[in-house]
Parts: sequence; C-alpha cells; structure tokens
Amino acid sequence: MKHVHDSLPPYVKVENGELWLTEDDRENLKISYRIKDIIFSEQSDFQHVMILDSYDFGRMLVLDGVVQTTSIDGHIYNEMISHVPLQFHPSAKKVLIIGGGDCGAAREVAKYKHIEEIHMVEIDEKVVLSCKAHLQEVSGNLSDPRVQFIYDDGVAFVKEHENEYDVIIIDSSDPVGPAEALFSRDFYANVRRALKDDGLMVCQSQSPIFHLDILRQTYTNIRELFPHVQVYTATVPTYPGGLWSFTIGSTKPLSLPETSTIPSDTKYVNEGILKQCFQLPQFLKKALEK
Ligand code: SAM
Repeated sequence: MKHVHDSLPPYVKVENGELWLTEDDRENLKISYRIKDIIFSEQSDFQHVMILDSYDFGRMLVLDGVVQTTSIDGHIYNEMISHVPLQFHPSAKKVLIIGGGDCGAAREVAKYKHIEEIHMVEIDEKVVLSCKAHLQEVSGNLSDPRVQFIYDDGVAFVKEHENEYDVIIIDSSDPVGPAEALFSRDFYANVRRALKDDGLMVCQSQSPIFHLDILRQTYTNIRELFPHVQVYTATVPTYPGGLWSFTIGSTKPLSLPETSTIPSDTKYVNEGILKQCFQLPQFLKKALEK
C-alpha cells in the first residue's frame, strides 16, 4: 500500500509530533481527529479525496477536508438512509442512488433480493475507486451485478429520466461545490418526475442543530412537491452536532408493513429504531410547523 507521508495533504497537520485532521469549514467550530496514517490522498476534478486511518473512528473518507463516513459510525448513516425508505416500499424493483460514493448505501440496498436494479450516479469516480480499495468496512467491496455505477452529475441525470424509479436515495455531501444543486427545489422536482407514480425519495437534510435553515428549506421544497413528507433523525458521531436528519417525500401515504423486511445483518436499524426515528424533538417539530 502506498502511504503518502513525504508531503502532507491539505487539512492534515503535524502537532507535537502527531498527525491531526482538522475540519475547519465552519466559521465558529473546528473538529479535529488524531490520525494514524494517510492511506490515500488525491485531488480529483471535483474535490480533494482522502482516506485516513484515525485513532477513534478507524478509516475515514474525507472530501475537501470534511469527514463523510467512517468505519466506526458509517453504518448508522448508511443503514438509516437505505432501510427506512425501503421499508415503505417493500416491492421496490428499481432504485436510484445519487452521490453515495462510499458505496455504503448501495451495499445496504443490495441486501434486498426483490430489488432488480440499483443505479448509483456519483459525480466523482475517484471517491468510488478509493473507497472500494481502501474503505471496505463501509463499501463492502461491492460487486453485486445489480449495481450499475454511472459517473455523472446527479442533477443532469434526473432531468433525463421520467417515471422510472421506485425509490430515489439522495446521499449527497454538504450543500457546497458539486452537491449544492442537490438541495434545490428544481432538482427535487426532477426527482419527483423520475419516480414512478407510487415512488418515494429520501435525502440527507443536514444537522437540525447547526443547519436548521437548510433542513427547513429542504422540508418546504419537498412538501411543495410531494403530498406526504416525513423527517426522521439518527445520531451520527462524526457529523457536527451528532444529531442528523433525513427527509422522505412520497407520492402515497407512508405506512410501514405489518412485518418489517429489515435484513437480519443490520448493525443499527431494527423495528424499534424504525418506529422511534420519526419521533422528533420539540424544537424540531415547532420549526417544521412554521
Ligand atoms: N454520508 C455522507 C455525508 O452525509 O456527508 C455523504 C456520502 S457520499 C460520500 C456523498 C457523495 O456525493 C460524494 O462522493 C460526492 O462526490 C457526491 N456528489 C456531490 N455532488 C454530486 C452531484 N452533483 N452528483 C452526483 N454525486 C455528487
């Protein structure tokens, strides 16, 4: 394995002889992780891509200096963004994932035998290849023939598709750079068109603590386009604030099947989590009612 030691990548610094990654994309908050090793570090056409080995979170995918997923807590996010929507559509056959370059969501979706096609539209091939090679705790070295990797901008891709998908999962990075348009109303309108008549979509809608404005805007956009909208949350330790939100937009009422079809090998999602995750804290309920 090639270790990149000779010149330090951006965002990683030596402090008192130790390597530290500091996320400093926020004005008033910096989060630092002590790093054992730099496994991969390259600039792609879209962003700076790193796989780091950290002390507390194992291997992590870092894009433009921001932690996206880790070996220790990646399953929480990837299971929540996959299994929750799929429980509301137990006969889904065709699923589209937009973003999701770490392959964790595709890996979870592929656990459902009734799903025949999984299209993953990721803008940056380097993210997929580096995660398959160096972050298998998350990617699972996905080689399921039902998964088709399409390297394209998700915004352009959905414009070209109509009435095609049962479920669309928007597994995007933060709304800056190439992911910014993945939070726009126009994009969600095209997502709606790309869904079949009884389809549903889910997106990660950021931190209710630090990005309540983005969550509220996302909720409003989706509510204008879909008759049924629900927000749910999970705690993901490496995301700022811990508490993270997801928003579902559905063309039909959201009801859980009598018996869940959650795969037996999940690490986080179970029937209890499925029911509990829609119970929102009071401040969030009020913010969404406004
Ligand atoms: N779980 C992570 C989180 O919430 O921070 C994000 C998962 S995944 C790594 C996000 C992916 O979205 C990245 O690999 C990025 O390249 C991809 N992406 C960003 N903008 C995109 C776009 N316009 N179309 C397709 N993929 C995009």
